[in-house]
This record gives sequence, structure tokens and C-alpha cells, in this order.
Amino acid sequence: MVSAPVKDIAPTAAAQPAVRRIVVAEELGYCWGVRRALDIIEEAADPRGRVAPIGDIIHNPQVVERLRTRGVEGAPSVAEAEARGIRRVAITAHGMGPHLARDAAAHGMELIDTTCPLVTKVQRLAQKLVRQGYYLVVYGDAYHPEVRGVLAWADTTKAVAAKKIVDLPWNARRGATGEGAISPPRKVALVSQTTKNIDELMKFAGELQAMVVPEGGEFRLCNTICEPTSERQNALKRLVEHDRVDLILAIGGKKSSNTARLAEVGNQMGVAAYHIERPEEIADTWLDGVGTVGLTAGASTPDDVIEQVVNHLTARGFTPPEGGIRPVDPNYVPAY
Ligand code: SF4
Repeated sequence: MVSAPVKDIAPTAAAQPAVRRIVVAEELGYCWGVRRALDIIEEAADPRGRVAPIGDIIHNPQVVERLRTRGVEGAPSVAEAEARGIRRVAITAHGMGPHLARDAAAHGMELIDTTCPLVTKVQRLAQKLVRQGYYLVVYGDAYHPEVRGVLAWADTTKAVAAKKIVDLPWNARRGATGEGAISPPRKVALVSQTTKNIDELMKFAGELQAMVVPEGGEFRLCNTICEPTSERQNALKRLVEHDRVDLILAIGGKKSSNTARLAEVGNQMGVAAYHIERPEEIADTWLDGVGTVGLTAGASTPDDVIEQVVNHLTARGFTPPEGGIRPVDPNYVPAY
């Protein structure tokens, strides 16, 4: 299936440039947290003692399939895993609410926790902010397991997931008295899903702050977008600014939130950007008149999928990236 462009900004020139090349963002592909989660799950994998991650262990269908052959197969719930005769369940890198550990214990299951420490940090911060009396706003997708997990750890009715002001339970600034006006409480704190776009978070934060601070309101912004996500977005911006990129391909599973954000970043910078899962989705027409293709990849995209895209483009006359995909520093640990 060919993915739809994030925005229809097609390259215009039909003639092919004399020099065609691939450049890659300095930071792309597997993030530290996903790499760590996969290491833990691969260590635990055993076809004779299957493990069921509750939900997708990673938002990448190729990796999910590879793990399935090693006895790792996702289940929607602990009860479902038990019904399939599985005795070990795992929390994915996105984290889950505290109910999962309770459920696993109640069913006598072994629990393997691969929650990314950068997500755990947001869960603990959410609890702390609630204890300090803040109404908690989580900037993110309400359906996403990470956001649901953070809200579950916050364990309060005074919390909401929102991406736009209209998602909030208020419609007016503090102190507004008009008919139907619902204004925020005095203390509001904002945290973010770790994979969000920083520019969009800051825009939302500015609007929320304007609602909360009148009449002595207190607004607290905690930028919990993780360092690997910020670095991917910054690296892509640098690529667009310095390498005169004509087209961006953001490689990652269709459910990968951070890959979608990367395509958005490219698009916001005025470059045609497509979110693709596999090289077969690249339409030859996208490459018409393109001299430089910029590649980036989401945090759950394995290197071999990026290599497949490079090979696909090389077969169409593009020179591969100088120095390969990227240098990997196995000792890198992000700040948290
Ligand atoms: S994107 Fe960030 S928070 Fe999510 S797993 Fe990777 S490092 Fe952890």
C-alpha cells in the first residue's frame, strides 16, 4: 500500500538531476529505550516458554514478526495470555498503569518490565504533580498506551489528555464570568507524551498558560519530550537546513507516533515528506526531479529496514549516504 503524503507538496521538475544522492539524519532509527526493551525481551525469549507483551512490544510489524518466531507474541490482556497457555507477560517500552502488575500477580504470571526509564520518569512526575495539588494535563494522544499509563499512575479524576485547547474541560480564561464559561482551577501542570513535537507542545503550552495564569493562577510546564525524540527532530531540521533536501522519507511503522511527527517536521519546513513503512511504498513519481533524498526513521525502526530503503533508492540511481546509516554509540545513555 502506498502511504498518503503528510501534505501534498510534490517535487515539480520532471527531468532528473545529474547528481542524485541520499543523505541521512545524524540521529535516526532505534532509540535507546526501544533498544533496551528489545534487549530485555530477547534475553527472556524462549520458544518453549512464550512471553506475551501486553500490546505491541514495538510499533514495527517487521520486528513483531521476527520476535513471534522466537516465542514472543503480543496479547491484549493478561487474561487473554493465560487463555493461550502463556505464563509470562511483559510491559512494553511505552509503560502501563499499575493495574498490569496487579493483574499479573493475581494470575500467578511472571512479569517482565521493559518500560523505558524516560517514560517511568513521566509516570513518577505525574504522581508528584498530583500530590502537589496540580490539575494534570498530558499533552498527547488519549488512545496511546504511554498516555493511558501516565494517567493511570496519576490516579486522579483531576487529569486529562489533550492535544488541543478544545480537548480540555475548560473553555474560558480564569476569572471569565460569561454565560457557560468554564475556567481552569488555580494550579495546572502540563507534561508531554515523550514522542511529541516540541514546537507543537510549546504552542499548546502558550495557549494553556494564557488560560490559567489570570487572577493568580499557577501554570507549570514540564517538557518531558525525551532526549532521543528531540534529537531526531533536531537532526532532521539540520538535515533540511544544511543539505538542501528535496524530499524526506520518514521510515517507521504506521502506528509509530514519533515517525509521524518526523514527517510533520519535514512538512512544516516546506519539504515534501512521506511516512513510509516499507520501500515498496515509495512511488517512482515522488522521485521525479529529486536530487537529494533525506532519510530519517522513527525510534522503533530497525537498521535493516532503513538499509532496504537505501537499497531501493540506490537501485534508482541515488548514491548511498557517505559513511552508511550512522555511527552507533553502544554506551550512549540519554539524560533523564
Ligand atoms: S522514544 Fe524516548 S521515551 Fe520512548 S522508548 Fe525511546 S527513549 Fe524511551
